[in-house]
Amino acid sequence: MTTSAELRASFLEYFEQRGHERVVSSPLIPANDPTLLFTNAGMVQFKEVFLGRERRDYSRAVSSQRCVRAGGKHNDLENVGYTARHHTFFEMLGNFSFGDYFKRDAIEFAWDYLTGVLKLPPERLWVTVFTEDQDAADIWLNELKVDPSRFSRCGAKDNFWSMGDTGPCGPCSEIFYDHGPEIAGGPPGSPDEDGDRYVEIWNLVFMQYNRDAEGKLTPLPRPSVDTGMGLERLAAVMQGVHSNYDIDLFRSLIAAAAEVTGCGDLGDKSLRVIADHIRATAFLIVDGVTPGNEGRGYVLRRIMRRAIRHGYRLGCAEPFFHRLLAPLIAEMGAAYPELKAGQAHVERIIKLEEERFAETLEHGMRILEEAIAGMSDGVILGETVFKLYDTYGFPTDLTADIARERGLALDMKGFESAMAEQKERARAASQFGATQSLEIEVQGETDFCGYDRLQEEATVVAVYKD
Ligand code: ATP
Ligand code: MG
Ligand code: MG
Ligand code: MG
Repeated sequence: MTTSAELRASFLEYFEQRGHERVVSSPLIPANDPTLLFTNAGMVQFKEVFLGRERRDYSRAVSSQRCVRAGGKHNDLENVGYTARHHTFFEMLGNFSFGDYFKRDAIEFAWDYLTGVLKLPPERLWVTVFTEDQDAADIWLNELKVDPSRFSRCGAKDNFWSMGDTGPCGPCSEIFYDHGPEIAGGPPGSPDEDGDRYVEIWNLVFMQYNRDAEGKLTPLPRPSVDTGMGLERLAAVMQGVHSNYDIDLFRSLIAAAAEVTGCGDLGDKSLRVIADHIRATAFLIVDGVTPGNEGRGYVLRRIMRRAIRHGYRLGCAEPFFHRLLAPLIAEMGAAYPELKAGQAHVERIIKLEEERFAETLEHGMRILEEAIAGMSDGVILGETVFKLYDTYGFPTDLTADIARERGLALDMKGFESAMAEQKERARAASQFGATQSLEIEVQGETDFCGYDRLQEEATVVAVYKD
């Protein structure tokens, strides 16, 4: 079996042998980029190089980049536990050309690596190009002789990439793996492409144009290449399993999660969520985020509390989440020494958050259960969602996660008006000089101020939304 660690090494080595500089993963907090919540792709640390604002002494690079997609433009949090292929934290393998090679080499490298080095059968692969990208189509069909019946042209939604509203952009070519007819889902570009049968493994982006403020595209003098392949998805393919959660690394983490929670069913969805979330949690803390009530810290808190609630669902009354750090280090510590170095700190932060949430989790769950037992229309009242949020520290997405498990919906409109009412009360109170007593009252029930936090959340949404 090819382990995840061996695949990472093999990819880096393949491109290093072809003149690429091996660049270490950058942290999850992007340097100098306040518009981006977390590093969500391999290209992030090279953004300035692609824009021509920064020079490096190499024009080809290869990396295995740690990524988090749990907020902002790319948010896969809601997919975790539901699809076979999405994580909040994952590693993106990528090769990059900064005005050096372009389409032909990028495509040839990718095909050679998959079919030549990893020996994947071409009849299990599927290739897409952007509808208007005839150059890429010619290379795939005429030069590499890819089977035209396993090839499709897709529109801009999936196959045209841009860095922002202006700046470098260009067509993509994506490579999918066909996990076989036993799994539901159609090929890319077909009406039922959303299934899990054809899994996208590698995205090749050809940065070919510059888009100006009027939307006009002009060819870049030195086009570039940015590619990204999910290590966990590739490992699933190479290990002959369909779900990322069945690869070596996740099997160990899931077994460890089963042990610390006392769950006897290794297939339980909550174990997958916990195994996913310990990675995001540990790496975010190592990279300097701490759970808090705003911005990145609040995203981390949401991830942690979701995991803690899944442990609670499995019957865990004691803090368990921090105990997964040692098993995570056993899996990933060699590739990421910072994880081992930060072990004590990370464990402490996680345990603190577990203890903190334990103070309100059980009571909040009781309130939610009562509300669910007493309702008739399958919708959890906005007032309840707000009370859980404001008094019991349940982020709304955590309540939504529970609702989804049970086929229920949340009344988010009602939640928002409950919030607006509370803000109004706070405002009125402050006009009469009574803020202090209100704050004390709020803090008596919980240790943070609900409306402040929400304001922050609203800001985060406004700032980081597409
Ligand atoms: P998908 O369509 O499956 O959501 P994507 O098009 O959003 O993937 P890209 O932005 O093209 O993904 O990222 C490049 C590669 O990174 C993907 O081809 C995939 O292998 C991997 N990848 C993307 N998102 C995730 C995730 N949430 N978990 C694991 N791997 C991912
Ligand atoms: Mg996606
Ligand atoms: Mg995609
Ligand atoms: Mg893609």
